[in-house]
Amino acid sequence: MAKIENIIIIGGGPAGLAAAIYNSRAGLKPLMFGGAPYGGQLMLTSDVENYPGFDSVLGPDLIEKMRVHAKKFGTNILDKNITKVDFTKKPFELYSSDEKYFSNAVIITTGAKAIWLGLESETRLRGKGVSACATCDGFFFKDKVVAVVGGGDSAMEEALFLTKFASKIYLIHRRDEFRASQIMQDRVKKHPKIEILWETEVVEVLGENKVDGLILTGGGEGRAPDTRTVRHLSTSTGGREISDRTRQIKIDGLFVAIGHKPDTDVFKEQIELDEKGYIVTSAVKAVETNKFLINLISNYSKKTTNTNDQKTGKLEIGDYLGQLEQLGIRNFDNNYQYMTSVNGIFASGDCVDHTYRQAGTAVGMGIAAAIEAEKWLEGNSKY
Ligand code: NAP
Repeated sequence: MAKIENIIIIGGGPAGLAAAIYNSRAGLKPLMFGGAPYGGQLMLTSDVENYPGFDSVLGPDLIEKMRVHAKKFGTNILDKNITKVDFTKKPFELYSSDEKYFSNAVIITTGAKAIWLGLESETRLRGKGVSACATCDGFFFKDKVVAVVGGGDSAMEEALFLTKFASKIYLIHRRDEFRASQIMQDRVKKHPKIEILWETEVVEVLGENKVDGLILTGGGEGRAPDTRTVRHLSTSTGGREISDRTRQIKIDGLFVAIGHKPDTDVFKEQIELDEKGYIVTSAVKAVETNKFLINLISNYSKKTTNTNDQKTGKLEIGDYLGQLEQLGIRNFDNNYQYMTSVNGIFASGDCVDHTYRQAGTAVGMGIAAAIEAEKWLEGNSKY
């Protein structure tokens, strides 16, 4: 049989590299599939000013330093993608094109990609005023005018965060209502620095080497005078080309907040993913279960304060227990926060986390997964 690795790390961003540094220093000689192209989202970032220890570092330089660090202690990095896995077998089987690899444990750190509008000008100006992360880049827009695109919780959060720096924020949404939670919508609508442009789409980002403005189409009452007619692909018509009147606004930065997609397609039907494709770990499952239980307790106590309803309340407990079972909590080992629904497969970084999405948080999660994988291997496999 071919060589069996102690640990294969899938993904070569900050979470994977941090895990590799820890596992290699523990003598596990991890094999990393760093991806092609390698390095993840930091490779698309210019200045990073919030990574502890570096008051300013270029994203690709930070990745390079982490790779050198991981290799120094014995990580073998292959800049290839994993294309297929079989986690029902022991040792686990992983494929990169036609090549097959075996491993006793796996750490998945494949990350998530921001979803972009798909405009050529947006791609060209990425890192030059176009961003998908206000926490990372908001600081560069002190007293400037910026725009945020989107109508979900991320867009609300980005717009509110940017009020700390920018003098004005346009919030551009393609429909006439937000899908964000009511509390976030209310905060945005009340904020004096935020102007909402309803039923509006970005047609083009203007600027040569930095963002100067936007060409917009659509818009309800109060829209500025039209400047010209363009043909463009409309997101509200499912990408169909339409002809429309447009207008321009001057801005210094554009924040696209229309969602993220975790890179987890290859793990479908192998481990539990949530409805958006994020990997579910024991810690995530515990929070989900906790929310379920709190809901159960509050509903049950409402029922049982009324003596006539006590019987109904008791009957409902049985129903709730059935639902609790359906959450699949028994598939998770609560001794390991970063273990997935399959014993011996761990996950960390942005492929798990749809809340923080920072290089620093990915590193922290990667380290935790590495320590857990090492502990698990001690009890479950020889190395
Ligand atoms: P989301 O809820 O999927 O919202 C995406 C938004 O972008 C939608 O308003 C959508 O418009 C718009 N959009 C999508 N494609 C577009 C396009 N091509 N052009 C223009 N607009 C486009 O994504 P999210 O806001 O990132 O949130 C993801 C999940 O994380 C949600 O469950 C959210 O509640 C959660 N989250 C929670 C928090 C929090 O609780 N603090 C913070 C952030 C995110 P339509 O509405 O027209 O579809």
